[in-house]
Amino acid sequence: MKELTRRKFLASSVRATMFGAYALNETAFAQTTRWSNWSGGQTCQPRGRYDISSEDELARLLKTTSGPIRPIGSGHSFSPLVPTDGHLVVIDQLSGILDHDNDTLQATIGAGSRLGDLGEPLESIGQGMFNLPDIDRQTLAGATATGTHGTGLGLQCLSSYITSLRLITVAGDVMDIDASDADLFDAVRVNVGALGVVTQIRLQNRKSYKLKKREWAAPTEDILANFDELAASHRHFEIFPLVYSDYSLVLAIDESDEPIGQTIFPPGEEVSLAAVRELNADATPLERLTRNNAVGANIQTTEAVDVSYKLLSNLRNNRFNEMEYSVPITAGAECVREILKTIYDQAIEVGFPLEYRYVSGDDPWLSMAYGTEPHATISIHRTASQDYKPYFDIIEPIFWKYGGRPHWGKLHSLGNKELAQLYPRFRDFMEIRESMDPRGRMVNQHLRRLFIG
Ligand SMILES: Cc1cc2nc3c(=O)[nH]c(=O)nc-3n(C[C@H](O)[C@H](O)[C@H](O)COP(=O)(O)OP(=O)(O)OC[C@H]3O[C@@H](n4cnc5c(N)ncnc54)[C@H](O)[C@@H]3O)c2cc1C
Repeated sequence: MKELTRRKFLASSVRATMFGAYALNETAFAQTTRWSNWSGGQTCQPRGRYDISSEDELARLLKTTSGPIRPIGSGHSFSPLVPTDGHLVVIDQLSGILDHDNDTLQATIGAGSRLGDLGEPLESIGQGMFNLPDIDRQTLAGATATGTHGTGLGLQCLSSYITSLRLITVAGDVMDIDASDADLFDAVRVNVGALGVVTQIRLQNRKSYKLKKREWAAPTEDILANFDELAASHRHFEIFPLVYSDYSLVLAIDESDEPIGQTIFPPGEEVSLAAVRELNADATPLERLTRNNAVGANIQTTEAVDVSYKLLSNLRNNRFNEMEYSVPITAGAECVREILKTIYDQAIEVGFPLEYRYVSGDDPWLSMAYGTEPHATISIHRTASQDYKPYFDIIEPIFWKYGGRPHWGKLHSLGNKELAQLYPRFRDFMEIRESMDPRGRMVNQHLRRLFIG
């Protein structure tokens, strides 16, 4: 078996199960253009789109119009947060760094900025964001609205680094919100796009920094047995447990002063796994396990050093749908084992690995890591061209069994009664939402189920 890198494995294993990608029209904002999310799993035919160029224009719009309205980011949520037959509000033009402070290392940023467009300008003022998610195509407003997180036992979700934000309410009022209004601040930092339209976000950053990333493959059981220690000894540590395999792809990232560059150990020719996937198509679970283990044992180790924002996120060009829940870290390993076993025992047709990571506890009410304890987050994925529902329906009850809380931007089937059991301040959020938008102008069918019932 020839050797291949972890990145190549992910790319090829995904490619092999793809039967056609969804084209995302990222520029068309003409009225009545059909809206689609990144995976193509959510679509709608809005009455129109307001492409906002200033906060005044937005405030005027909200004051002088009626009818359903949903703010949108870059459409990278899998769940139906955006779909509406009313209007969409696009704030792409409210972007860039508006102000910064060299002493506090804070920066005020236009909320329509894509995360990936912030790395360089922040570096040029000597700042870097503490963490980034797996991809960086999301807008700052969209990512924080759903409590988007990266990996790191000592790192919180992106919303936790907000020190203040500006919200234009449904009534068109401008509100600058910070910790001096504690309840509203804790509600609005993860707002699911239900409290108004966020136009500016002030972030606590740190000095810009370099990271060293190491990727390799190892037996899943070996890693799970030592996960707490490994997570504690690296700034970022996560695994992608391979399905029908005893192996995981492993990722560890730490701060570094080494020169920028990349190394592959040992140097060798890379192979595509498309052929292996084709062989697996008609294979029994045991045959798949045998083949995938042979592949797992031969994955090359890679190392790279670069500025933080170039290493923390990845390109994910192969579209998929995803479900992610957080569970207490004491339950994480067992939950992963049960999911892998269920896939194997029920011979579920899936090629995507799981993703397993730790995040620090935090305090925005709707953060999936809300509380003092860290949480483990576990994701399952299915290629966008296949119906995700049969697979996700089998796995979701496993998350419930371990006390899982769903990610707002990812697929789940819970309503407000169940959610109120999982998020201690959920009913407080429902009250604030009701007071901010009593007529439910920002509530679509999905949000109604989440926050009204
Ligand atoms: C390939 C991929 C990888 C991902 N990786 C991760 C990951 O590593 N970690 C993680 O936690 N999540 C991850 N996600 C999920 C993603 O980060 C979230 O779903 C995020 O909310 C998407 O941001 P967006 O800009 O696309 O917003 P959208 O999906 O367009 O909108 C999300 C929510 O934000 C609201 N919103 C948007 N703009 C505003 C505004 N100005 N004011 C108020 N509300 C607003 C919307 O109404 C909606 O409720 C991933 C998604 C994909 C597709």
